[in-house]
Amino acid sequence: MKDPKDRLDDLRVDVERRNPAQPEFHQAVREVLDTLAPVFAARPEYADPAVALVERLLEPERQIVFRVPWTDDRGRVHVNRGYRVEFNSALGPFKGGLRFHPSVDIGVVKFLGFEQVFKNALTGLGIGGGKGGSDFDPHGRSDAEVMRFCQSFMTELYRHIGEHTDVPAGDIGVGGREIGYLFGQYRRITNRWEAGVLTGKGVGWGGSAIRPEATGYGSVLFAAEMLAVRGTVLDGLTAVVSGSGNVALYTIEKLQQLGANPLTASDSQGYVIDDKGIDLALLRQIKEVERGRVSEYAQRRGGSARFIPGGRVWEVPADVAFPSATQNELTEADALALVRGGVQAVSEGANMPTTPAAVRFFQQSGIAFGPGKAANAGGVAVSALEMAQNAGRVSWTAQRVEDELASIMRSIHAVAHETAARYDAPGDYVTGANIAGFERVADALLAQGVI
Ligand code: GLU
Repeated sequence: MKDPKDRLDDLRVDVERRNPAQPEFHQAVREVLDTLAPVFAARPEYADPAVALVERLLEPERQIVFRVPWTDDRGRVHVNRGYRVEFNSALGPFKGGLRFHPSVDIGVVKFLGFEQVFKNALTGLGIGGGKGGSDFDPHGRSDAEVMRFCQSFMTELYRHIGEHTDVPAGDIGVGGREIGYLFGQYRRITNRWEAGVLTGKGVGWGGSAIRPEATGYGSVLFAAEMLAVRGTVLDGLTAVVSGSGNVALYTIEKLQQLGANPLTASDSQGYVIDDKGIDLALLRQIKEVERGRVSEYAQRRGGSARFIPGGRVWEVPADVAFPSATQNELTEADALALVRGGVQAVSEGANMPTTPAAVRFFQQSGIAFGPGKAANAGGVAVSALEMAQNAGRVSWTAQRVEDELASIMRSIHAVAHETAARYDAPGDYVTGANIAGFERVADALLAQGVI
């Protein structure tokens, strides 16, 4: 048998050759392969080239790319590209969000779909992994334009999805408004009230309580678990949060509920720092109601807040950090600044926000680092709870969903922590989460034959 390291190198080189010009996908794959050597050594059946288990995990089951034509308010026709990558359904229907952002391309969707497979496995719930989206930019578009775009997008997507097949949800640029338009079009085309085909629906029509809050809440709960291992609590700590979307807003809310003081929020133009701590009601008004920019927060908040154009939240000293915006937003230089500023724990609310060099730096500096696959799994976990409620035609109380979310986050933390220890990497949540997710999917794949 080949040395596990050589086998992993071969797999990485092969993926890079077969998927050219997809740097984010290469990065996500490499990050997983880099942690698998111990499990390959312990369980040679995973590594055997004759079984091609990892080759099957690295190749999406299906990739759909389609044209999305739509008409703007002035009557001009635009053409965007739509994607759905159905990565792996060994554990359940494909599950994962849709992202509408100009940076979306096939490589970005594949990186997100690949991560989703492991994240969803870690939740312990019956969901496979997939992701989709479009290079459509919703910024500055009217509700009517967004609706027409969503209707056109669903007019192709509907034939590929279903409650037992593939269940999309939100991600960057896709929230309650977009899910509503997408669901309406699905219902109209198929003539089916199939609540379980999408998650993130409105609470009045099949959505789950706490779904909007779940990713941010879960990321804070994960940080609390990491701190508890070190004998600390969030109460009284300062926090830096990046982003100002759904994940960031509810990260801030849960931090405040647990007695921590979140100081920042950001968007692509810069960040706000508020010495008194973020006024969540004001930030929500600007972001959720007015769909405005964080710079307006500083103007309206009065003396305690400043807007730093082009700045990075990581330059603000704080005890805990929550990258909650987008991929590769936290570089090695940012990690250095955070460690100098006394950071103790980092919890990834976004997908792959920390660059590999920054992750290494945190780990070498002894910082508790919670990778997105584990730390931000609360969102998709509550999506799976939404599917369960839909299947039973019931809706649970907010308290019940929140209790379930808390117990799922505790169990994800415990599994990642125990798996890391079992494979001689104590405290390394990246290794623990990757191996635990991998084992679950790999065992299902092996049991189900060559598919
Ligand atoms: N987009 C979210 C994620 O990255 C949620 C996906 C879902 O709820 O299906 O996990």
